Amino acid sequence: MCGIVGYVGRKRAYPILIKGLKRLEYRGYDSAGVAMIGDDGGLNVYKSKGKVADLETHCEEKDTTGTTGIAHTRWATHGEPNSANAHPHYSASGRLALIHNGIIENYVTLKENLMKRDIAFRSDTDSEVLVQLIEYIMLSNQLDLFQAMQVALHQVIGAYAIAVLDREHPDTIVCARQSSPLVVGLGADGEYFLASDASPIAEYTDRVVYLNDGDIAVLQLGKRLNVVSLSGERQHPKVRQIDVTLGQLEKGGYPFFMLKEIFEQPQCIRDCMRGRINVEGDRITLSAVIDYREALVAARRIIIVACGTSWHAALIGKQLIESLCRIPVEVEYASEFRYRNPVIQPDDVVIAISQSGETADTLAAVDLARGAGALVMGVCNAIGASIPRLTQTGVYIHVGPEIGVASTKAFTGQVAVLAMLALCIAKERQTISDELYKSMVRELTLIPEKMERTLQASEHIEKMASIFTYARNCLYLGRGYNYPVALEGALKLKEISYIHAEGYPAAEMKHGPIALIDSEMPVFVIATRDKLYEKVVSNVQEVRARGGRVTALITEGDEQIRHLADHVIELPDTIDCFQPLIASIPLQLLAYHIAVCKGKDVDRPRNLAKSVTVE
Ligand code: GLU
Repeated sequence: MCGIVGYVGRKRAYPILIKGLKRLEYRGYDSAGVAMIGDDGGLNVYKSKGKVADLETHCEEKDTTGTTGIAHTRWATHGEPNSANAHPHYSASGRLALIHNGIIENYVTLKENLMKRDIAFRSDTDSEVLVQLIEYIMLSNQLDLFQAMQVALHQVIGAYAIAVLDREHPDTIVCARQSSPLVVGLGADGEYFLASDASPIAEYTDRVVYLNDGDIAVLQLGKRLNVVSLSGERQHPKVRQIDVTLGQLEKGGYPFFMLKEIFEQPQCIRDCMRGRINVEGDRITLSAVIDYREALVAARRIIIVACGTSWHAALIGKQLIESLCRIPVEVEYASEFRYRNPVIQPDDVVIAISQSGETADTLAAVDLARGAGALVMGVCNAIGASIPRLTQTGVYIHVGPEIGVASTKAFTGQVAVLAMLALCIAKERQTISDELYKSMVRELTLIPEKMERTLQASEHIEKMASIFTYARNCLYLGRGYNYPVALEGALKLKEISYIHAEGYPAAEMKHGPIALIDSEMPVFVIATRDKLYEKVVSNVQEVRARGGRVTALITEGDEQIRHLADHVIELPDTIDCFQPLIASIPLQLLAYHIAVCKGKDVDRPRNLAKSVTVE
């Protein structure tokens, strides 16, 4: 998820590592650390919470000698963002140091087994398990680091890019990857660079090797790059030329964070489901539901409090929970809820949704609900933020740092979490048949791939976007699960292009907004093939009859609306309740491309803040 840098060579490693970390700052992170094998042979690890600049200050008086080192920026997924949890992590004996990007799904089992063997842990991370496991295997079988990693990684389930130093071999880094990127740079004089993307490497060399899933690589000064698969077969890595300039490498090659984050969504949703949906793809486990099973099963009512985009995710959550769990759900603007003297009872469950976990109004609503004795559950992205700390339980969305002010991947992450939550509670309450449950879980696992297909429409949408830059008002229409998608689509457009837009339930149009329709006003309709499809077709006819210009989001292969609409965007089919995960993507892209066409600063829209910490 976050950043990795490594260097083995004849130059001093520390300045290269720090510069590399700075190149990776665009990814967002909460802490940073470095490890070097010093000139005296000692393995020195320094880490600190906050920025790379804080790490530099922390290192000022320290021994930062050595020509081999690894460095990391962390975005916490397991354990608070503090210096103990920052990477690198030492092994128990202090001989190894490891950095890790990703999530280890079976870390609890691995950790328990190691603790039974008297191995003490110094952090709350899933990552530390790796270094302890590798050292344990290395020492108990008298293997070298590379051999030990081969054995250890067979026991690990999850996503990782790791790099490990061994004090006994000061000219070597051993690294490995599985579902998380890792690039090796081939420098002059037998030196090696290592990074999670090419941006820290590009200024030193243009010759790189992208490691594949399952690869373990040994980077030893002056020796040929040795890459072996997990099953022990020697690989023949292809050396490539980096064909991007330094400028392009910032923001991972995307012109704006928002576009990068839109495109990250398939991977984010995979990360969000990782470790929660089993490998067979037919069961969801959420620790919040295990720990608070009784209260959730017995809940008389669920109240979801949120603001902005999170409030739209809440509207989708309401439909999911009501239809699957048969528990009444109310969705509240946190700012209204907190000042309204609402009725909250001890058998109510309150869910607070906030990307940052710091939204002032949502935080106040959490306080109020806790005071009234309700069980409060957080749905947040930032680990260890105020809402996760002040709620009894919660489910992190695990989509990585979101930098663009207009939320995209956090929205789909929130919807994915609410879908998993609804399915879990429904299963416990026995309001869902086994068959339906399994087929829905299976469908959920297919969503990332369907998101990938949806993203292919970006170029088509980019071409279409210039038609809408003239608009002063836009209308977004949808029904059922697609109604909140219409609201969210309209909000995205407002936020970054400054075009006024309204989202409406399509049938409500007749009760007012239809008066606004003319050939000047673009109307975006989410008209996927679901149970309300025919009704939406009628609504599209009504718009057409008033000379309105319709852009429709349709299910692949649908010919009926294609003939009625001026423009169509095709979406892969899925079940109704997961449609928002797909349908929101073209609307994000539309808002993005329209704003770019208008020359707006997409990542920093005027008057808006990323995390609204004032009420
Ligand atoms: N899961 C690890 C942690 O929480 C790594 C996070 C990352 O990818 O930065 O420490």
